[in-house]
Amino acid sequence: MEYIAAMQDMSIEQLTAVIEVLQKSSDSYFYIMDLDDDIYIVTHQMLKRFPFTDTVTKDARRVMRDVVVYPNDYPKLKEDIGRCTAGEQKIHSLEYRWFDREKRIVWVECRGTVIIGKNGHKLLFGRVNEMGKEAKADNITGLRREIRFQYDAEEILRDRPQMINYMMRIGIDNFKEINEKEGVEAGDNVLRELADCILATVNPKVDVYRLMSDEFMIMDAVPECTKEAQEVYNEIKARVAESVREKEYSCFYTVSAGVMQDGFEGKNADTVQSLTEFALNEAKRSGKNQMALFDRAAYDEYLKRLDIRKLMRRDINDNFKDFEVFYQPIVSTPDYKLIGAEALLRWKCEKYGNVSPGVFIPILEESGLIIPVGKFVLWQAAQTCKKWREVIPDFHINVNLSYVQVYKSDLLEDVDRCIEEVGIPPESLMLELTESGYIETDSRIKELFRELKLKNFDVALDDFGTGYSNMRYLQEIEATTVKIDRSFVAQAIQNEHDYNIITHIIDMVHSLGSSVCMEGIEKEEELNKMMQAKPDMIQGYYFGKPAPADQFEEQFLQNTERR
Ligand code: C2E
Ligand code: MG
Ligand code: MG
Repeated sequence: MEYIAAMQDMSIEQLTAVIEVLQKSSDSYFYIMDLDDDIYIVTHQMLKRFPFTDTVTKDARRVMRDVVVYPNDYPKLKEDIGRCTAGEQKIHSLEYRWFDREKRIVWVECRGTVIIGKNGHKLLFGRVNEMGKEAKADNITGLRREIRFQYDAEEILRDRPQMINYMMRIGIDNFKEINEKEGVEAGDNVLRELADCILATVNPKVDVYRLMSDEFMIMDAVPECTKEAQEVYNEIKARVAESVREKEYSCFYTVSAGVMQDGFEGKNADTVQSLTEFALNEAKRSGKNQMALFDRAAYDEYLKRLDIRKLMRRDINDNFKDFEVFYQPIVSTPDYKLIGAEALLRWKCEKYGNVSPGVFIPILEESGLIIPVGKFVLWQAAQTCKKWREVIPDFHINVNLSYVQVYKSDLLEDVDRCIEEVGIPPESLMLELTESGYIETDSRIKELFRELKLKNFDVALDDFGTGYSNMRYLQEIEATTVKIDRSFVAQAIQNEHDYNIITHIIDMVHSLGSSVCMEGIEKEEELNKMMQAKPDMIQGYYFGKPAPADQFEEQFLQNTERR
């Protein structure tokens, strides 16, 4: 056989004898792989521990992929071995997972050197170590590393999950800032301090690990353990605060924690990592410097959002399939004549049915997908508006813009191009931006409003009365129209005090030269009451619900004489 010649004239028996001899004096397992002939030779010891069928395996890559290597890790092995085979590297070194004969996951560290035999074959000589046998320490904190956590957790989750009291993932709230502002050394000191705080708090038998970056994991599976997770977290937090104080606030930091206390049965280490990470992110999202318990319902909600995002992305790439723009009439006062419509996006899918914009718009915003979808709405609305202006010449359509479009796309360019391509004047579109903290604090929004107005577009400040309503920026922003939110209107209908506020606001908006559109009028009594406050436009179910374009035409335009 050729690979024997390649191994400097040694026979297969001699070759195998060499690794068998080495094996006798070591805990490592030795192997030879003929990279060109795809043959894997292992020792008898190794054969006892791992699921090979013989000491010599032909079709080695397939057997590794299908039987020996943990499937998630095979791609990285394939890549590394590929580089060795292509002659791009001489050393193979990888930490990854195998299965043992009982189908249990085992972390291994695999090393090897490529030797070229006489016939030109590449032979990989090496050894495999079981990592769980060694406590690999992180050299900053002295704690065991993530890989060891994976190994230990895998074992305990498999053999005695009911013994686990809790797993707590701890993260430093502002670690990136410390590294950037105070330097990496200060960052390392913080990691050491925190490790000390954790070790001083937990029972010495409890396992503590340093995970990647600024995170730690406490795995408490000690039967006589007396401290609850919350108590442990509180103590760590107090120790951290004390240590910050002792160092005279030279480096200020706080810590958050994500905790899993039950439901370990049937989970593997990867899953526990994701779930505690989710809980830690929840703690940080709710303001940091606190502990959050893993919340199944919130996690399911999160997974659903990810799923919706995936489905929407698929639909967007399929020419906006299942996205549709609906239109809701806007009437003028006091004649209640149809003067325009608001374009409102709809999305449905087989799995979740009709999803509310309140759910899917934020997902589009977070993922940046609102940029292509926003353009789609803009173009649809412009084309529809062109058609409807044939019936009502000064008809306009309101299009909602997201602050993400303002920050991350060339909005001005897009709207310009849109009206030019479609062939409508700028005043056929009214662009709506939601009133929120952004408008007040960011000059870009004011700038955008100014430029849109210079180009003769109408601009509306949407949802007034919901968030940070501030009279000053009403004045600064000079919107063509202020849209008073439905929740504010509903309060005014019920409550005289709020009604008075709305009348004053309307007066003020008028004195600034802008007009007012009142949203959410559903009933006649509401209309009669709110008309006394003298809004200029009304939009609400009373005059029409959002509907598809053809339905809108049928309902509102077909019987309208051309004006
Ligand atoms: P919005 O811009 O304030 O739109 C008005 C919302 O109030 C619409 O909800 C409309 O259906 C609802 N509405 C109008 N009149 C009444 C009424 O009399 N009673 C009740 N109960 N509701 C009424 P919708 O369509 O669910 O949209 C919710 C929000 O989603 C919109 O609020 C807007 O902020 C956002 N949105 C919708 N389409 C788009 C879009 O194309 N782009 C962006 N960026 N946001 C959009
Ligand atoms: Mg709107
Ligand atoms: Mg609104």
